Amino acid sequence: MSRLDETVALVTGSTSGIGRGIVTALAAAGATVGINYPPFEGERERAEDVLRAIEENGGNGVLLEADVSSEDSVRSMVQEVEEAYGTPDVLVNNAGILTQSPLAEMSVEMWDETIHVDLRGVFLVTRFVLPGMLDRGSGKIINVASQLGIKGGEELVHYSAAKAGVIGMTRALAREVSPTVNVNAIAPGPIETPLMDDITAEWKTAKAAELPMKRFGTVEDVAPTAVFLASDESDYYTGQVLSPDGGDAMH
Ligand code: NAD
Repeated sequence: MSRLDETVALVTGSTSGIGRGIVTALAAAGATVGINYPPFEGERERAEDVLRAIEENGGNGVLLEADVSSEDSVRSMVQEVEEAYGTPDVLVNNAGILTQSPLAEMSVEMWDETIHVDLRGVFLVTRFVLPGMLDRGSGKIINVASQLGIKGGEELVHYSAAKAGVIGMTRALAREVSPTVNVNAIAPGPIETPLMDDITAEWKTAKAAELPMKRFGTVEDVAPTAVFLASDESDYYTGQVLSPDGGDAMH
């Protein structure tokens, strides 16, 4: 697998789960990483843990606070990383939240929060990082969508809509900025992370039985796809949706 020396990669929402796995794998492949965390309780400490583990493994990185759904917060984060390292070579839009409700009972606040973090957040971070990539003449954007953005999920209309939006953005932007910047998405299936904490054990058992691979994925099933999309081995990929999903969506 390609090394990512000389590569600067910014990963949003990298204190937990898939983002933590991706930022750790990118750093292990040689990238200098920007570890983004939101300004919420306990997140700074979690980000410090991620950086400590990366440094113990010989890697290096920087902590970057920002709520991806806030324009001002994202603008200052991108300024900070650009002052330290220049425009990132790789942007991984990973930050996301998951809530669940039947649509007929869904509050407008629940809808808005999901769209703000899971869709607007991808737009905002991309909006502020992209100009530097275009000026430099290169860049790789990797959007973490979901298999639910392809097939939909019951009681997850807001989340499915946001993730379908991320896939649409990926394809539209790939057309707009190729061949300068590669834009691809990863659409994981159900992966064991804290995002799943509120999902019942019964649901998980039933879901795992439906999957061709008969099990939930792990963070390690997803992270290598991001390393590939960050490397020059993926130079001929753009507008694609790669799916470490145990065969769930088969789009
Ligand atoms: P997680 O809850 O373990 O991690 C989510 C991360 O996002 C955390 O680091 C959190 O701090 C960060 N975050 C949340 N709100 C933020 C905000 N406003 N600003 C900045 N960061 C914020 O969840 P995960 O399972 O690792 O999910 C990561 C991504 O993968 C999400 O986009 C999720 O939708 C997607 N995904 C997850 C699964 C799954 O089954 N776990 C499947 C498909 C897609």
